[in-house]
Amino acid sequence: MQDCVFCKIVERQLPSTVVYEDDKVMAFNDINPVAPVHVIIIPKAHIANVNELTESNASVMGDIHLAAGKIAEKLGVADKGYRLINNCGADAGQTVFHLHYHDSGCQAGAEDNLRYQKRLCY
Ligand code: AMP
Ligand code: ZN
Repeated sequence: MQDCVFCKIVERQLPSTVVYEDDKVMAFNDINPVAPVHVIIIPKAHIANVNELTESNASVMGDIHLAAGKIAEKLGVADKGYRLINNCGADAGQTVFHLHYHDSGCQAGAEDNLRYQKRLCY
């Protein structure tokens, strides 16, 4: 989609630090991280948010979660713990309207964790 930041990242029209990519999914570091590990996981196809999932495109949710496990392993948070967050709609804090999950490493009780919850889990 023409004016979508994440589509531009997929098309390499905008720079990003890619941490995972396959034919359906891409993951890159959040430009404004709120935790030491803060990755954005997206389907390569443009879907605005969960409201736009249909029977024909919903398989991307499985693709995203499979990728999330691999990314967590790669970034060393699989055993320690990480959080997958999806914001759907403006009131939920969605600012980029291309379906995405925040994949964030967590440290129990750490300041990073608290900041993350405040910003993304109102
Ligand atoms: P949300 O508020 O759930 O829509 O999350 C959007 C996320 O995308 C925010 O955490 C932003 O920091 C992140 N973001 C926006 N633009 C970029 C970009 N060009 N590269 C990487 N992350 C981005
Ligand atoms: Zn898009």
